[in-house]
Amino acid sequence: MTGPLIPPGPLTHGTELNAVYTIARIVAETPDTEAGLDAVFRLARTIFIFDIVSLYIENKETGELEPYYARALGRGRHREAELSWGEPAAIESFRSGQTVLRQEDVGPEIKGRERRRDYLGLPMLVGGRCVGGLVFGRFGGPSFPPEHVRLAEFVAWHVGQLLESGRMARRIATLEAQRELARMQDEFISTISHELRTPLGFIKGYVTTLMREDVTWEPETQFEFLHIIDEESDRLRELIDNLLDSSRLGSGSLKMIFESCRLMALIRDAAERNQVASPDTQLQLEIEADLPEVRADSTRIAQVLDNLLSNAYKYAPGSNVIIRALNMGDFVRIEVEDSGPGISSKFIPHLFERFYRVPNNNQTIHGTGLGLYICRKIIESHGGKITAESKPGMGANFNFTLPVITSAKEKLPESTHETDKDNPGS
Ligand code: ADP
Repeated sequence: MTGPLIPPGPLTHGTELNAVYTIARIVAETPDTEAGLDAVFRLARTIFIFDIVSLYIENKETGELEPYYARALGRGRHREAELSWGEPAAIESFRSGQTVLRQEDVGPEIKGRERRRDYLGLPMLVGGRCVGGLVFGRFGGPSFPPEHVRLAEFVAWHVGQLLESGRMARRIATLEAQRELARMQDEFISTISHELRTPLGFIKGYVTTLMREDVTWEPETQFEFLHIIDEESDRLRELIDNLLDSSRLGSGSLKMIFESCRLMALIRDAAERNQVASPDTQLQLEIEADLPEVRADSTRIAQVLDNLLSNAYKYAPGSNVIIRALNMGDFVRIEVEDSGPGISSKFIPHLFERFYRVPNNNQTIHGTGLGLYICRKIIESHGGKITAESKPGMGANFNFTLPVITSAKEKLPESTHETDKDNPGS
């Protein structure tokens, strides 16, 4: 570090001392650079008079000074002083690395105090390097006396400290963000590799077994092996589809096809599809009769329902599952509720994040933490909201909303009952 902490020479005046110590404290304690600068200059003005203050910082690419911060205070503020007036003093102090005093008389055409302008330019040192210039401007005299120059140098040194802490804080935040990104990438690669490897391992194992020339397999055994291969291939495809969907939804490149949609048939289809996949589950529908039409991409809403239902089967095996659809006026609310082990409230805020899985999940339950993220992205792109409510041991309720179609133009013709349009197209 360069420069004196307290400027040389006696600082005996009580107000000055107070301001000086408060400035030092602000610099040490204020994390927000701009708020810190405001406070420092407000205090500086109690120990020496100036009407404008501006800070210029070098643009590393062009080598030119650019305005970073500027304020008009006191007389400067009332008279709409131009904050850029002090720029030459900033440039001179930056180039020379010295304190600079400039005086200008801009001629009789400028009436009042602004005709005479005094500028005090100070080199701005950050981390031992001159990075810019700080200018205090005063209108209508008198010139800055040496004791004010000393106080201004003291303030400039502290402003340098403030910028340095801001720079360090930004650097730390960037480093932390980079570290977090690298950690998430590692975690992602390890989760995905594991998830891809498991079905691939089954497929390879059963294919190799079937290809053995020293064994003749019974047709039923052969069929059983092929069935496993078929299921595991589906799992692989689903995983890759999920990865693709999540990256397209994340970048906004997955286009939705919104149309008028009646939910009754869409929910029934999803229920049937999932009942086949999990015949042990008691699935119950509670759909209000007067459900209005919603504006939705039916394929994507079917995907959301499939995700929520397959989660209910996965994480609440054997539990009763209820699908509810409620008319809430401007929107329809759909709920998928199970009576399984539920989720602790501390994990709920994270459930819809990409790759999030509740820690200590049953290790035998496979997953990537993409399903609920995909659901959230789909629902949000419909203008709806998805949430989860749960208490451990009391089951989980995942619910989402979809906006109701209000304009007659968008509504389906009366003859179009719950047929093709509502079909999830699976
Ligand atoms: P995945 O199932 O691939 O882990 P999801 O994004 O679908 O990813 O779910 C995230 C996490 O939410 C799961 O890992 C699980 O811990 C929890 N979860 C989801 N649905 C339920 C449910 N019905 N009951 C209990 N926990 C659930």
